[in-house]
Amino acid sequence: MNGSQASVYCTLSSGFTINANISFNQNIAPGDWIRPDDKAYILSKPGSTAPRASKLAFNTEMHFDYGVASEVAPNVRRIVANNPGPFTFKGTNTYLVGRGEVAVIDPGPDDKAHLDAIAQALQGERISHILITHTHRDHTAAVAALKDYSNAPVLAFGHTGKPRGARTTSPSGKDFVDLGFTPDTQLRDGDTIEGPGWALDAIHTPGHAPDHLCFALQGRRSVFSGDHVMGWSTTVVAPPEGNMADYLASLERMLGRRDKLFFPGHGGRIEMPQRVVRAYLMHRKMRESAIYACVKNGDRFIPKIVAKIYRNLDPRLEPAAALSVFAQLELLVDRGLVRCEELPAAIHSAFSIPADAPLP
Ligand SMILES: [Zn+2]
Repeated sequence: MNGSQASVYCTLSSGFTINANISFNQNIAPGDWIRPDDKAYILSKPGSTAPRASKLAFNTEMHFDYGVASEVAPNVRRIVANNPGPFTFKGTNTYLVGRGEVAVIDPGPDDKAHLDAIAQALQGERISHILITHTHRDHTAAVAALKDYSNAPVLAFGHTGKPRGARTTSPSGKDFVDLGFTPDTQLRDGDTIEGPGWALDAIHTPGHAPDHLCFALQGRRSVFSGDHVMGWSTTVVAPPEGNMADYLASLERMLGRRDKLFFPGHGGRIEMPQRVVRAYLMHRKMRESAIYACVKNGDRFIPKIVAKIYRNLDPRLEPAAALSVFAQLELLVDRGLVRCEELPAAIHSAFSIPADAPLP
């Protein structure tokens, strides 16, 4: 199979359909409906007034026992923390990279059983680095305790200067974001962290969080993808913490790589990750089309749009869904396709199609 090709078929609400093959690094126009390889998308019926975002083929299979370090690849162990939830799936994955001198990626929640499991797995070994993909509490709350235990330095992107969420309960709020976190060493895109037998390259991938890093394991075509790419679900992009333009650019960045495996912050390992990334990019394009169609049909406020495009939504995820729609609308406003009656746009703002809008 030619990995650089995706078959495209475009079905608009008018019923208009296009079939074509494109290469995945080609720009995809809003309104295109894409079916990458065998990832199934369910298209809206021709003639429906609002194309619905389709289902992605998520991988929700994951074999693990809480508290047990299991080897998910040579020199890579994973311990799943027991903090399952609508945003964390089975729990946060903590990865141990190397043997003897070990990097711990994402210590996880502040849970004694989880910390004990890390210590138990590393008996007779030394933690040389504590690496953080992003400063959300489900990844960082155990940092202080693990640092006390190991004396290892904490490395992360650190503060970006971008304002972060203040509301407590939203996915961009301070219940989620560890606002007080400061690393011992700030990492930047392209920095390399090394130990005996392993080396990790930091890849700055803002979008889910402004400070998000993925870590590529040198020589193994494998990436620790944090919450940037997860196989079990799409990623929450919740302003102001999350930014859709950044997120899409960060996804496209992963497309340009030739990795074989991703190890996400939640969920099982992702094989053929570029295909998943491509599917996620296309999913966002479809969401954008669906949201644009809602605004065009006169749905000016976010709750109405959420009700139309998310079916059977877990009520716990409603704030996240509203923020995701807002993130997409921010991008449409930036591109001049949608108008907001107040600027900067806010989640309670009214949205419409400007008279002089360029064609989407
Ligand atoms: Zn997370």
